[in-house]
Amino acid sequence: KNLKKHFPVKKVSFREKAGSIKAVDGISFHVYKGETLGIVGESGSGKSTLGRTILRLMEPTEGEIIFEGHNLVGMSSRKLTEHRKNMQMVFQDPFASLNPRMRVHQLIGEPLAVQKILNKEERTKKVLDLLEKVGLPKEALTKYPHEFSGGQRQRIGIARALSMNPKFIIADEPVSALDVSVQSQVLNLMMDLQDEFNLTYLFISHDLSVVKHISDRVGVMYLGRIVEIGPKKNIYENPMHPYTKSLLSAIPTVSFGVKKERIHLEGEPPSPSNPPSGCTFHTRCPHAFDRCKIDSPELVERVDVQFVACHLYSEDSI
Ligand code: SF4
Ligand code: MG
Repeated sequence: KNLKKHFPVKKVSFREKAGSIKAVDGISFHVYKGETLGIVGESGSGKSTLGRTILRLMEPTEGEIIFEGHNLVGMSSRKLTEHRKNMQMVFQDPFASLNPRMRVHQLIGEPLAVQKILNKEERTKKVLDLLEKVGLPKEALTKYPHEFSGGQRQRIGIARALSMNPKFIIADEPVSALDVSVQSQVLNLMMDLQDEFNLTYLFISHDLSVVKHISDRVGVMYLGRIVEIGPKKNIYENPMHPYTKSLLSAIPTVSFGVKKERIHLEGEPPSPSNPPSGCTFHTRCPHAFDRCKIDSPELVERVDVQFVACHLYSEDSI
């Protein structure tokens, strides 16, 4: 609810004002039990910061994070640890996120060892079980991360996240470092595990095809805000926000007879340390009009459960 994460920036010269990078700038949404909410946006849109802030791996500047009725913001670290067991993260680069000096049984069993829930024998049994669930042989147990391919390493990362029996997993670009041929295998594994363990996913990616494959609903981020959010079908077939439209027009599609018009946006995304006034997309929007420079549009439900932040759809603009 109204989540913000601003990073202070020091001023370099006396002429500059000390400012802040508004990586996440007032975001509100729900994630429903058992669903996958995909979050898409260009790099620098604040997607990763959003994921990390939700798990309180970073402290939010403002806002609330309600998990099963409990606000994680301002919670004591003892209570937070209790809730955090139910929330895990899968990272983009499994090689960087797995300690190279640990064997697989330690890597997957470590969270369990820290929580002291199981004894050593029970832990090994659990780790073997998890290896099977993610499609790795039991011989993997005594190996080191470098002995595996990228796809296998991501399976280890997923098994590690699953070891605490979480309910909610935030996956930040989990297949972006993998070959395209391996991506769908890992995505399908994640979908199978979701069914088996009743998991809820927040799935972050810059790749619209990947998000389309796995998500039930999709939120589109631009400069630290959600500009459109709704069911996958609506977002991909009837996008309303001009930014969503331009992102989708850039995906190559093979279709006969229908020629898709590619929408070219002017310039690069502006810096989140100095975002444009009003609608932050107005500097690149092909439909911008006077009001867009002054007024920041709210995220409003425009058609059934599809929310859009754009003045084109407000009754008082027509
Ligand atoms: Fe474009 Fe204006 Fe809509 Fe922003 S509010 S997306 S600038 S039309
Ligand atoms: Mg990122």
